[in-house]
Order: sequence, then structure tokens, then C-alpha cells
Amino acid sequence: MTSELTHQGISFDDQPLGFNTLSIHLGNGVDAETGAIRRPITLANAYALPYDPSDINWSSSDVNLYTRNGHPNQRYLEAKLAKLEDTEDAVVLASGVAALSATFTTVLNRGDHAVFSDTTYIAAYRLLNQILPEKYGIETSIVDTSDPDNIAAAIRPNTRLVHIETPANPTLKVTDIEAAARIAHDAGALLSVDNTFNSPFNVRPADLGADIVIESLTKYINGHGDALGGAIATRKEITDQIRFTYQVNYGGIISPFNAWLINRGSVTLPLRMRQHNASALAIAEHLETLPQVRFVAYPGLESHPHHDVAVRQLARPDAGFGGVLAFGLDTDHDGHNRFVSKLNVITSAVSLGHDESLIVFLGEDDERQYLYPEEFHRGFFRLAVGLEDVDDLIRDIDHALAEAGI
Ligand SMILES: *Cc1c(COP(=O)(O)O)cnc(C)c1O
Repeated sequence: MTSELTHQGISFDDQPLGFNTLSIHLGNGVDAETGAIRRPITLANAYALPYDPSDINWSSSDVNLYTRNGHPNQRYLEAKLAKLEDTEDAVVLASGVAALSATFTTVLNRGDHAVFSDTTYIAAYRLLNQILPEKYGIETSIVDTSDPDNIAAAIRPNTRLVHIETPANPTLKVTDIEAAARIAHDAGALLSVDNTFNSPFNVRPADLGADIVIESLTKYINGHGDALGGAIATRKEITDQIRFTYQVNYGGIISPFNAWLINRGSVTLPLRMRQHNASALAIAEHLETLPQVRFVAYPGLESHPHHDVAVRQLARPDAGFGGVLAFGLDTDHDGHNRFVSKLNVITSAVSLGHDESLIVFLGEDDERQYLYPEEFHRGFFRLAVGLEDVDDLIRDIDHALAEAGI
């Protein structure tokens, strides 16, 4: 089964295989040398050259040559992710931020213009708001993409890329991917979507018209909080350019060990996502009932301003809205910190998509506060709900509120 799936595709008897089956079998296969039904980690830096190596292109990425040019563990993971995202190809790099910068530097040239979401991962903001304009002469516009009219209004004759993050980190704003794709394509631009908060289990942007899908593999796809990686799932024409330029010449390759770990973690992606989705919704609903809670932002709540769009974008009947939510307490700066200090199960740390629940307090002096909705201005938490018993998580929150005197 494994080798047939890997080598021949994603269906048999003309019936497509389900997401669970694909998550388990793609990217694995029988090791030709030992017959092991788990692929090994190949840690070599270099590969044997042919008799006459003089006509090799030392920048090529499609032969085993040198590990920065591409390696087997990277390629197994890429083949799997392309199928899970429903794209022609995927390229896997050292981190989610490497995937973002590879996309921007590959698609955009000096004098081009890009429109991007006003809430994004901080590195996307830094790259598009500052580094690319100042160092490389790229024009950018930052807009609230949760209203597609704002994207349309920002388009210029030289717009080449619309980049959205949905749900956005950390405000959980949702953007309509189909509407954004239509506007981008009418303008002759590409749409890239940072899908990290959803993972391909919940939403598949390529099926909704996105040209480029970016994932921080560090989060849900690896799922165990022990390896960084990033992926760009798109057409082969674009992945080829990214490999040739960004991977080989800028050097953003993923290590074989991390590629192997992420491949292994991704086997349980659908199981884990169902639990993250269910637990986050239960916690969001519980928080909404508490008088000490000023607001809760979670796309699965009917109170979320873009709930209908979030529902419409779901990739399958058992999909949900991810494991991340934001909320604020009716207390001051120190009250928020006191609450975190009283938590016993939930850990105070950045990142998300891990097995354990993580919380971070983003205070009222965060440099991007002016871009956040009003209710975020007094400081708020980003809570990444993990896989613990949800009753324990709710008990932990209630207990910490009482202990902190809020
Ligand atoms: C974490 C994150 C990234 C960056 O990924 P790294 O693997 O940490 O480089 C990008 N986008 C989103 C939405 C993220 O949450």
C-alpha cells in the first residue's frame, strides 16, 4: 500500500482516498536497501558524483548532489504536502518565515507592488512593510483584507501579489479567499495565503483560488513542538524558481532530520486537528460566559464578525476553526500577567499547534496595536489550545481567574 500510494498517486479503483489515509501513507514507502517499511533519515551532506562530473549544473536541485540543493527527506515531505494542499508541487524550507521570504523575493521584483493583510505574522509585516521596500525598491500597501473592497481599492497597475493571512495572527480576522483570488486575478496578480492557523485539514486555499499556499510546518503540521519548517505549495513553475534561487543560493534548506520529524508528526494531523478544533470551540464558548472576559475572538463563534466566511471556507464536513483564539480580561496590565502566573496546565510561551496548550500576553504597548480592532487595545492573550483534556484546560482557566482575584 505505502509504496503504491507514494509512487502512483492518491486513489485506487477510481475512488479518491481520504485525508486520513493520505496523511498516513503519503511520504512513506519501503526502503529499497533494507525492506524497512519506514523511510530512513539520510543525513549525508554529499552524494557520489558520476564518472565525469564536469557538466553538472552545481545549482540544480533535482539530483542528489549536495544537501542544500535538495535531499530525499525533503522530497518525501514535499510530495505529501502537495497532495494534502491539492497543488501541483510543494517546496519545503527551513522555517515558516523562510517560506514567506522565499515567496516574496521570488514573486516580486524591483518596482512591483504588493497588497498585504494588516494583521500577519510579525516577520511578514517586517518584510513587506519595511525590508523589501527599503532595500529592494518594492512598493507595498497594508490593508484590512477581511473586507475585500479594501484589497480592490489598493490595487495599482504594478500590483503583482496579494498576500493574506487567514485567520490572522493574532487577531483571528478572517479573509474571504475566493473574493481575494478574484480581485488579484482580475489585476493580473497572484494570491498567496498563509494557511498556518487552519492547516490543510480545515481549509485548502488552493481549492478556493489561491495561487500560493504557505504553511509554517513548525505549528500544526509537525504538531509536536520540536522542529521548525515551512512549506510553499503552488505550481511547479514557481517551486522550481524557489528551489533554484532561494533554496540553493540564499540557502534556506530544511535539515533532513527536521524534514523527517515533520513527516512523522504530520501522520496524525487530521486526528489532532479534530481535537484542537473541538477543544478551542469549547473553551471559546466557555470564555464567552465569564463576566471577567471582555471579548473573545474565535472564528468558530457566531459572535465572530466573519463567522459565515469561515464556515463557507471549510474544506470538509468534519473540519473546524483551528486551535487558536484571542481574548482579553476586564483587568489591568498586571492582572493579565497575574492570571498567567496562576495557570498550572497551560504554559506561558510563544508558538502554537503544539501538543500542549500555550498562552502569550500581548500587552497594550505592542507596536502593531494601531492595526488591531479596538477591543485588543487594552492588551490581550493569544491562547493556542492543545490536546489536553478540555475539562482540565477549562478548570485551569477558572482556577487562575479566582487565584488572580479577577
Ligand atoms: C509561526 C508562524 C509563521 C512563522 O513560522 P516559523 O516556522 O516560526 O518561521 C508564519 N505564519 C504564521 C501564521 C505563524 O503562526
